[in-house]
Amino acid sequence: MTAPIVSFYRVIESGLPPARAGRSAGGTLPVRGVRYCEAVTSASAFGWHIFPPFGFSLMWDGETVAWATGDEWYRLDEAAQYPNGLDRFDSAAPSECKGFCPPWLLRGVTPGIVQVWTGIIVSTAPGWSLLIRAPANLGRSWGFETFEGIIETDRWTGPLFVNLRLIATDTPCSFPARYPFLQVQPVPRSVYGDEVLNSAEIASIAAMDENDWRGFHETIEPLLAREGVAVDVVANRLDPRPDGWRVLWADDAPCPECGDLCKRRALPIGRPLVYVGDGWSDQCAALVADRVFARRALAEYFDEHGLPYERFETFDDVAAALS
Ligand SMILES: [Zn+2]
Repeated sequence: MTAPIVSFYRVIESGLPPARAGRSAGGTLPVRGVRYCEAVTSASAFGWHIFPPFGFSLMWDGETVAWATGDEWYRLDEAAQYPNGLDRFDSAAPSECKGFCPPWLLRGVTPGIVQVWTGIIVSTAPGWSLLIRAPANLGRSWGFETFEGIIETDRWTGPLFVNLRLIATDTPCSFPARYPFLQVQPVPRSVYGDEVLNSAEIASIAAMDENDWRGFHETIEPLLAREGVAVDVVANRLDPRPDGWRVLWADDAPCPECGDLCKRRALPIGRPLVYVGDGWSDQCAALVADRVFARRALAEYFDEHGLPYERFETFDDVAAALS
């Protein structure tokens, strides 16, 4: 087995362990978003969810912070430890590290800031850092903000913690045990270095070339015409208006199979049928094809269901397989 990219070591083992974040953001995304918006589902699924070891609440009165795990509130004077956290840490730690268990809650220097340790120690493979942030696309309390941070856990194995800024006063902010309160995302260090971040271009729309325009539905047809390709294009249209773009659905009746707007109804009647796809919205339609070429989300779906398909990266692969 190859070494993992991320290792989560649980010092405090109550509660839910870290888990791969799901594409539906814990079931909170609208069904249509899950089916059609690859951008939202990919971002939701990027990383791991971190849960608190037990449910707790924080409250700020504008000056001091109080915490509770039940009905009783305690003032956070300096720091609060996990119950039994010190014992568990010391029994595993080598002698030079004993006594250095991070506190569960640490009051920040700035009023209303609280540092929360997740009860987890984390390390990453060389070259990999972790971006710690609030869960992507998951609704949450407006009573606090989560600071985002990138930690270089390949250089130092350390506690996975986060800083919260309590905003609401005299209102409890609750962190339920079954609800992720953080999302941890793996990022190669090179991605946030100057070489990448200084490499951005800001230009006028006139600078967009053919390749830039190719992604827009309204330009598929001129491109096909230029290449001399005669095919029927079935696509939704965009209606650009000053107040935003509207999607005009090619077919706005629901599919009788899956009950949603779906590509299945647009399939040609002739057989055999070859289906080439890569997304969530290809699933229902691909199921009726005689031969399926899939990558990304569609390949994952076929893998999950043990269905036969052929993997492809580019249309050259498909053309080679079909010739
Ligand atoms: Zn369908």
